[in-house]
Amino acid sequence: MQLEYEIIYSNRQSLQISVERDKSVIVRAPKGTSLATIESALEKKKLWIYEKTKHPQKYKEGRKERAYISGTSILYLGKEYKLDFVNEDFEGVRFDGGFYLSKSHAQLAEHYLKEWFLEEAKRIIAPKAELNARTLGVSYNQILISNLKFRWGSCTPKNNLNYNWRLIKAPISVIDYVIVHELTHLLEPNHTKRFWAIISVQLPHYLKAKEWLKCNGSLLEVL
Ligand SMILES: [Zn+2]
Repeated sequence: MQLEYEIIYSNRQSLQISVERDKSVIVRAPKGTSLATIESALEKKKLWIYEKTKHPQKYKEGRKERAYISGTSILYLGKEYKLDFVNEDFEGVRFDGGFYLSKSHAQLAEHYLKEWFLEEAKRIIAPKAELNARTLGVSYNQILISNLKFRWGSCTPKNNLNYNWRLIKAPISVIDYVIVHELTHLLEPNHTKRFWAIISVQLPHYLKAKEWLKCNGSLLEVL
């Protein structure tokens, strides 16, 4: 995915963003730089990155405000579900073969949906990471469910794993792939032959998931 970036931490003093020959985006950062700092630097250089990577979204400035109305399709675990506003008065989201929100809190639709997705991300991602860490024989510090705009997942030098809550929109096989990808970085920091060999043992069909992410990278910036 073109917007996805790789972080290389080192003893350098300042942050540098570059687009490599293969159009991958590399962020070189001083050790200890927070992901929030990195993302805001990327946000500032977004148009330049789109230009360099020939990203299809390059001419779309910023995120479009999304209107949540009855009938809107919402992606959850790789499937589209309809959103519907009902007359009943309740807070939050009710999920039952579709997303239901109360008409009386319609203005909070985006907030409630985001909250619901965050909870789902924690519920689904944490046990999967634990299980896969055990089969890979690695251990991590903690799992964070993040609100990053340009990444599905990342692994920090302190062995913390970050997963984007938007991952919950993807099919389960894709979620598994992103989880295994970040865990494998605990064994092999770079995308070497060895790295992909480890992944293919864990997930023989990982290429399909990789392809899905490539095609659906724009989902990262939605909601
Ligand atoms: Zn990676």
